[in-house]
Amino acid sequence: MPYPLARLDQLYLWHPFTQMRDWLRREPVVIVKGSGAVLFDAYGRKYLDANSSIWTNLHGHNHPALNAAIRRQLRKIAHSSALGLANEPASLLAEQLVKAANVPMKWPCCPPPGRTPGHPDGHLNAGLRKVFLSDDGSTAVEVALKLAYAFARRTGRSAKPKFLSLAGAYHGDSVGAVALGHIDLFHKAYAGLLFKTDKVMAPYCYRCPFNAARPERADAREYRKCRWECLDKLHQKFEVRRKKGNPYAAFVFEPLMQGAAGMIPQPSGWLRQAAEIARGHGALLIADEVMTGFGRTGSPVLPSGLPALPASAAAAPPSLFACHHEGVQPDFLALAKGLTGGYLPMAATLTTQAVFEAFLGEYDEFKTFFHGHSFTGNQLGAAAALASLKLLQGKRSIRARGQLEQTLRRELAALWDLPHVGDIRQAGLVAGIELVKDWRTRQPFDLRQRAGIRVCEAMAKRGVLTRPVGNVIVLMPPYCTTPGQARRMVAALAQAVRELGD
Ligand code: PMP
Repeated sequence: MPYPLARLDQLYLWHPFTQMRDWLRREPVVIVKGSGAVLFDAYGRKYLDANSSIWTNLHGHNHPALNAAIRRQLRKIAHSSALGLANEPASLLAEQLVKAANVPMKWPCCPPPGRTPGHPDGHLNAGLRKVFLSDDGSTAVEVALKLAYAFARRTGRSAKPKFLSLAGAYHGDSVGAVALGHIDLFHKAYAGLLFKTDKVMAPYCYRCPFNAARPERADAREYRKCRWECLDKLHQKFEVRRKKGNPYAAFVFEPLMQGAAGMIPQPSGWLRQAAEIARGHGALLIADEVMTGFGRTGSPVLPSGLPALPASAAAAPPSLFACHHEGVQPDFLALAKGLTGGYLPMAATLTTQAVFEAFLGEYDEFKTFFHGHSFTGNQLGAAAALASLKLLQGKRSIRARGQLEQTLRRELAALWDLPHVGDIRQAGLVAGIELVKDWRTRQPFDLRQRAGIRVCEAMAKRGVLTRPVGNVIVLMPPYCTTPGQARRMVAALAQAVRELGD
């Protein structure tokens, strides 16, 4: 007799990204509470949350500081509209986000137009000045897209602004965000609803046709043999558009790691050079840090060939944002998921003063940004986000993140012994493990074999929860995960892969 809650779920709910026929075949896990990195189901069974509840949770579940911040706010008010009214936590949050997004960069590259290293802001690259709040990752991207579109038209850059995004891109499920996406399985069925965007080769070293290296038991970024042909392709795309007389309005990317594409990491130096190409063609940069933001990509792996840093600068804590690791300051920074520590749905799109000013005018000029959501600026979400930022910037969290990154690196190395593990790619506190039929050939499993799903099911039996992206297993633990818990996550993954068979 299934637990009553599971029955209710199966009677009434329709789950995201889920084949509901499969779902209805077996009793689902019903989560009733959480503590730190542990989730408890309705039978009292414990699970480790190895994907941070679909990449949202940062500090663990039921965190006393976040709970207290929400309770404090709840005693005052839960929500009032941002249409026509300001509120306390949203204003404070916007200030903190602007501060966090404009930290001094160690090696700033390609400043936005009008800013050079000799600018009064020096190397601060102080570009992101305004915060538009919304609800989730998709809306954060929609806001950036609409602002960039209108900006290109208003500044006379283009009457029909065009956008370029990466192969395998995923930026959300609302229609504008889907138009920027390039995952056929998710997006093709809706092609008739979408406006056309261009795609360019992403740096997927493990499966790159230009990588002449034979497979090794190491992250493909380290042993690749190529001449950065992916950057040539990017350059060509920009050139073609320029020759057509309609240069791209914006280049959209996830910095350092493409998540839903299959945890595809960029080799050190790619982002920096890609940003230089885009800026060289006058395109705006839209960084989707919905997944990578708030410390997820850990400490930077520095592009080679840069001069050594003075000790004081080297010792500064790493920026919370992945694009800064490569010295790139975008014109739009889309944030969600971890913004509230994974507690409440809230998102932010940060942008520049120049974009903001393109929407200023007298009322009857109708330059207003006619866009907003009922829950924009929600006080409970903003209070949680403020508490989360404070935790993130504290020494304790910085130290814990550094340790977890190292623990993961050490533990994951053991997986190279498994023939079904083709690539292990880690960017800070997120890792993708690509399953293949045989590592020597890189031959992929047919999606119909459900290798990723089977491995995750076997991990769940061992008390570790995560979801695959196709044949890639995602490990993205909350920052509070202890070394012992991280070891258990990787051990469950190893045992599950061993059970895969041929
Ligand atoms: N951008 C990226 C990079 C994402 O990973 C996601 C969600 N996985 C989104 C946007 C969309 O976010 P949401 O699901 O909150 O709408």
